Amino acid sequence: MTIFKKIIEGEIPADIVYEDEHCLAFRDVNPQAPTHILLIPKKEIASMAEAAQEDQNLLGHLLLRAKDIAAQEGLSKNGFRLVINTNEMAGQTVYHLHIHILGGRAMAWPPG
Ligand code: 5GP
Repeated sequence: MTIFKKIIEGEIPADIVYEDEHCLAFRDVNPQAPTHILLIPKKEIASMAEAAQEDQNLLGHLLLRAKDIAAQEGLSKNGFRLVINTNEMAGQTVYHLHIHILGGRAMAWPPG
């Protein structure tokens, strides 16, 4: 079981900022920006590489909730970044699909 599944199950604590029947958002334990939130589906999808056509509505839901959470955190005007690290070379470490919501500082491009 991944660490994120344990957070969904309430087996390990997290600083939860949003929850509904499909997804959960909580603050990253090792923040890379003043605001760093992880938004995850409750459905166990290992990575974007494993997402299926049947996940279309869920993925759309996640993006819209990410936008709402960014707004809730006061990031809309200045901007924010959504990141989905996918598999090893992209730096994915937890194999439960998650969107990083990052904001509160200027972001460099290209990403590292
Ligand atoms: P990835 O590298 O897979 O894209 O992102 C995984 C993220 O999960 C990292 O930013 C890491 O800090 C975060 N993380 C790992 N374990 C925990 C945990 O137990 N609690 C929280 N809140 N974040 C975690």
